[in-house]
Amino acid sequence: MEGEKYLFVVSGPSGVGKDTVMARLRADHPEIEKTVSATTRAPREGEAEGVNYYYRSEAAFKQLIEAGEVLEYNYYNGNYYGTLRAEVERRMAAGKLVLLNIDVHGAANIKRLYPGSTIVFLLPPSAQELEARLRGRGTDDEASIERRLAIAREELAQADAFDVRIVNNSIEQAAGDLYALMVRRAGLEQ
Ligand code: 5GP
Repeated sequence: MEGEKYLFVVSGPSGVGKDTVMARLRADHPEIEKTVSATTRAPREGEAEGVNYYYRSEAAFKQLIEAGEVLEYNYYNGNYYGTLRAEVERRMAAGKLVLLNIDVHGAANIKRLYPGSTIVFLLPPSAQELEARLRGRGTDDEASIERRLAIAREELAQADAFDVRIVNNSIEQAAGDLYALMVRRAGLEQ
């Protein structure tokens, strides 16, 4: 569809720093809006419909999936969460940059649906550095760290299938590289 060049997906292994890099990019470039997902979980105190999420019953969420209105979704901690087609397409059609943070399988799905989009893989500076970061969180026991590392190794093996790879040497550098890529691929250079 028209405007696919405005759509970007960032994926990468757990612990590589996707959320931090994207938060920095949004802080520097607030015109890159956050797309609002749908969820079956109840709103938390202070959250609002259409701002944090679109809150839907499980039946309504499943209907959205069946109607092809959900680009990708996940079942997490007893609830469904999904990216809505309308949220993404509305922005693309208006010529606005869209940035999604989704897992490796979800990214491949987006590329299949929107061949003109760009899928970006965020890489750690090295495998050792990723292990250090996962351990450095200090929140997981050894068995859990080993499982995460095994998943991370599998995810790293997918990097070649992405359009672009960016190494996260520092938050500023990775956010800057990502923004430069977006502007270039979307044809927004001045
Ligand atoms: P929370 O309940 O804390 O708002 O979110 C729980 C988890 O769901 C987080 O890890 C968040 O990143 C994930 N999540 C939120 N929206 C989406 C979405 O549209 N798709 C997927 N796959 N995960 C999402």
